[in-house]
Amino acid sequence: MRYLLAAAALFAMACTAPTQFSPSRFGRWRVAFAGSTDGVYAWRADQLDAVRPMFTELDALGPDFVETDSLAEADVIARAAGDLGGACGAFDARDPGLVRIDAACAQGYLALRRAVAHEVVHAYTWQRWGWAGHACDWPIGAAVPATCHPTIRCPGEGCLMSRGLARADDGPNFSEAYTGDVADPTPAQPDLDLVAACQAASRCAP
Ligand SMILES: [Zn+2]
Repeated sequence: MRYLLAAAALFAMACTAPTQFSPSRFGRWRVAFAGSTDGVYAWRADQLDAVRPMFTELDALGPDFVETDSLAEADVIARAAGDLGGACGAFDARDPGLVRIDAACAQGYLALRRAVAHEVVHAYTWQRWGWAGHACDWPIGAAVPATCHPTIRCPGEGCLMSRGLARADDGPNFSEAYTGDVADPTPAQPDLDLVAACQAASRCAP
């Protein structure tokens, strides 16, 4: 009976996962996968199989996230990497059509998917609104921490867009590396709120 209840609870959670999927409002976002430009690092088939459910999960944020085989048509290219200085994923606003992922660094398939999804969302918000940052948690009355959205909070920092900085930023909101503690790659309500707030204001930060 306990297992039945647990299964029912999981089913209910799956059915009530928050979504604001609306391609007419948020558009479409194309992601391509590729190896490193120097040919040293490549995606394995099992790694891509683990990452691809993100195209359904990220839709909850609003845009229609789709995979493309065309690097020329892709809004962002997720390249395999292995030289991120201890980070599992990286986004650099100086090259916003690119995210880099070290699959060997991620702790398992879910963490790998989360690393890719997290960096892809950085590229998305940067390209659309010139802002890449995080949904954080911080004490009431304290200053907003660097890289955090000023009004969208993620209590407990268990969101897709929670911070996971592996090293200091090169410049706030411009370049960051990421290592996730929480493996769940599914967007949480604050992740949706973040994208919705940017969309509503046509910008992310005041
Ligand atoms: Zn990040």
